[in-house]
Amino acid sequence: MLLDERVQGWLDVPHSERPERLTRTYQLLERSRVLDALVRVPAREATVEELELVHPASLIEKVRAASERGGLEWVGPEARTSEGTWTAALLAVGGLLEAVDRVAAGELDNAFVCCRPPGHHASADQAMGFCLFNAVAVAARHLGGRVAIVDWDVHHGNGTQEIFYADPSVLFVSLHQDDLYPKGSGTLEQRGDGSTVNIPLPAGTGDLGYQYAFKQVVAPALRRFGPTFILVSAGQDAAASDTHGRMSVTTEAFRAMARETKLLAEELCGGRVVAFLEGGYSLDHLPICTLAIVEALAGLTPSWERDPLELDVPTRLGDETKRAVDAARNAAGL
Ligand code: ZN
Repeated sequence: MLLDERVQGWLDVPHSERPERLTRTYQLLERSRVLDALVRVPAREATVEELELVHPASLIEKVRAASERGGLEWVGPEARTSEGTWTAALLAVGGLLEAVDRVAAGELDNAFVCCRPPGHHASADQAMGFCLFNAVAVAARHLGGRVAIVDWDVHHGNGTQEIFYADPSVLFVSLHQDDLYPKGSGTLEQRGDGSTVNIPLPAGTGDLGYQYAFKQVVAPALRRFGPTFILVSAGQDAAASDTHGRMSVTTEAFRAMARETKLLAEELCGGRVVAFLEGGYSLDHLPICTLAIVEALAGLTPSWERDPLELDVPTRLGDETKRAVDAARNAAGL
């Protein structure tokens, strides 16, 4: 849900994709002491050559020049820059590259990359939807081999899909709210060369629906593909209190998906998995959902048994969700 630009001006509403997303998440990781059990790796800036693994010089230069001019400037649909954007964008991509290099080298078991801005709406030549450069796509190209990308952001990762649509060496699996953003993107018919698997889900899907989709479609798709490395586009905007989606998901669905992904990585590719923060705009829910993911990836005891927010969410698998998941499984030939 995006507030009309004009109304945002009247109300002086802060932009959803704002620094507090990271500062509050980091604060929770620190205060919960979960951070003490982890290895902290500073992000580095990606080089222009690394960005060029995916993006043409024209887009890179457009973002750099707009950011250098300093004021708010549109560089694509729902994508703008301001002073400092260029450095933040390089750190987000470089932070992910640093993490995948360390995991590939066996220096870390797995990793969660807590950076911004997100990247999965950015196609090769267009910034879009708060995304400037597609970090996960750059990391997949940087890694080489057979990379599987699991995207659980509530919006469809149209940029990632487009970049790898005709590339059988990269599997793209997306769970998202049906026809939310971008409109018309992420349908069952969009299958590319067969290595694109879309799972459009109805609003109100809830925890059990996500777990059903994971078991019925994501896991078999990964097993059929046989990845050498798994990347997760971890957007936590399916969370129940996030106004950008309507999926009624709690912290425990994110914990379960992270745990399942870690198990699949151990089964298929020596445990090599790195999750990158995409969306997630509820300043209450993003930190606790991310903490649950980090705990699962690190194999830590959960800090709570159920979502700390009091939520009115579905407690059963709905018929409409089950039909949607079964249709996705059939479309993917699984
Ligand atoms: Zn999103």
